[in-house]
Amino acid sequence: MASIKIIQDKCVGCKLCVGSCPFGAIEMVGRKAVILENCTLCGICVESCKFDAIDFKKDEVSNAVDISKYKGVWVFAEQKNGVPESISYELLGVGRKLADDLKTSLSAIIIGDEIEDATKKLISYGADKVIMVEDKSLHYYNDESYTDIFVQLIKENNPEIILLGATTYGRSLAPRIASRINTGLTADCTKLEIDLEDGKLLQTRPAFGGNLMATIICPNHRPQMATVRHKVMKELEPDENRSGEIIKPNVNIPKDLKIKVKDVVSTITESVSLTEADVIVSGGRGMGDPKNFELIAKLANVLGGAVGASRATVDAGWIGYSHQVGQTGQTVGPKVYFACGISGAIQHIAGMSSSDTIIAINKNPEAPIFKVATFGIVGDVLEILPLLIKEFKKA
Ligand SMILES: Cc1cc2nc3c(=O)[nH]c(=O)nc-3n(C[C@H](O)[C@H](O)[C@H](O)COP(=O)(O)OP(=O)(O)OC[C@H]3O[C@@H](n4cnc5c(N)ncnc54)[C@H](O)[C@@H]3O)c2cc1C
Ligand code: SF4
Ligand code: SF4
Repeated sequence: MASIKIIQDKCVGCKLCVGSCPFGAIEMVGRKAVILENCTLCGICVESCKFDAIDFKKDEVSNAVDISKYKGVWVFAEQKNGVPESISYELLGVGRKLADDLKTSLSAIIIGDEIEDATKKLISYGADKVIMVEDKSLHYYNDESYTDIFVQLIKENNPEIILLGATTYGRSLAPRIASRINTGLTADCTKLEIDLEDGKLLQTRPAFGGNLMATIICPNHRPQMATVRHKVMKELEPDENRSGEIIKPNVNIPKDLKIKVKDVVSTITESVSLTEADVIVSGGRGMGDPKNFELIAKLANVLGGAVGASRATVDAGWIGYSHQVGQTGQTVGPKVYFACGISGAIQHIAGMSSSDTIIAINKNPEAPIFKVATFGIVGDVLEILPLLIKEFKKA
C-alpha cells in the first residue's frame, strides 16, 4: 500500500512542501512538516522537498498488462436512427491525429440497426476501418448490450486507445467498459495528444474546480480510455473519395437482457439547439434582471441563434439549466458567441473558448472576458443590445 511520512531528521522546516500540496494536507508544527489526514497520497509534494525529507512509497502495480500487444485507435461512433451524431466526427478528427502520430490505424466502432450508410460517412471523416455490429435489437442504445458487444470487440482486437463522447450515452458506456476490462478512464478531456517519446496518450482535463488543467496518463493498463465533450474537438473536412475497410465481426448479440428499452421519446426543445447553433447569445448576471433576458432572446432570434447563460443566472432561477454554458453546463463552439454581462470566470470560459469569434459586452473594461474576446464592447448591455438588435434586423 502507498504511504507517506516526513523524515524528521532531514526536515529543515523550509515550508516548500506546504505550498506544493493542492489539498492543503501539509502543516508546519514547530519547525517540522506534518502530513494531515486529508492527504490523498498523490505524491505531488515529493519533488518540492530539496532535502529528501518526504518518504513516499507508491502502490505496487499489480496485474499490469503487456501493453505492447495493443495497437490502433478506436472511436465510438454514436448514432441515432442510423445517422452518426456530430460528436462521432469530432472524435474522428482528434483520433486521426493520434493515429497518425502513432503510425497506426483509426477505427470507428458503430453499433445499431440499419447503419450500413453511416459507415461510408465515417470513412469520409477520417476512419481507416469501420467495425459495425448490426442487429434489430440494437436500434436503441442499451447499456447492457452495447457494453457487452464493445467488450467482446476489445478482447478480440486489443486497441491501444478508445475515445467516446462525453454525452449521455458515452458517459454511461465508457465506465462500464473500463471497469469490465480493468483499465483507467479519463472523463471530459479537453485536449488529447501523444507523448512522442513513449507513445502514451496524454489526457488533459480541468481539475480542482477548473482552476488548473491536469494531464493524466494510463501507464500500466490498456486500452487507454477517454471521453471528450461535444464541440471541444474539431471535425475534419469530409473527403467522399477516401476508401476504408468495413468489418462485420462475429459477435454474440446479448438477447436475455435485464434492461429493455421500449421507446425513446424526444423532448421538444427550443428551435435551435445550444450545442449545434452557429450563433449563441449568452446572458450573465450583468443583465440585471430576468426580464432583460428578452433582449438576449431577441438578438438570438434575429441572428437565428440559441440562448445561452452563465451559471450565476441559472442558479438565480432566471433561466433553465439547459441554457448553461461552462464547465458544469454545455460545451459549445459556435461561429459567433456573444457574452453579454458575463464576467468571464474560468468555469464559463471552459465551455465556450473554442468559439470562432467571441464578442463580449461588459461595462467593466477589466472584466476577464475581454482576455478571450475577439471583439470587446465596453458599455451598458441594456443600451448596447437594443442597438445591435436594430442594426442586425436592418442587415
Ligand atoms: C465548480 C464550479 C463550476 C462552475 N461551472 C460554471 C459553468 O458551467 N458556467 C458558468 O457560467 N459558471 C460556472 N461557475 C461559476 C463561475 O465561477 C462564475 O461565478 C459565473 O460564471 C459568474 O457568472 P456571471 O459572469 O454571469 O456573473 P458575475 O461574475 O457576477 O459577472 C457579471 C458581469 O456583468 C458585468 N455587468 C454588470 N452590469 C452590467 C451592465 N449593465 N452592462 C454590462 N455589463 C455589466 C459585470 O462587470 C461583471 O463582469 C462554476 C463555479 C464553480 C466553483
Ligand atoms: S520541503 Fe522538506 S524540508 Fe522543507 S518543510 Fe517540507 S519536508 Fe521539511
Ligand atoms: S501526497 Fe499529495 S495530498 Fe499528500 S501531502 Fe503530498 S501533495 Fe499533499
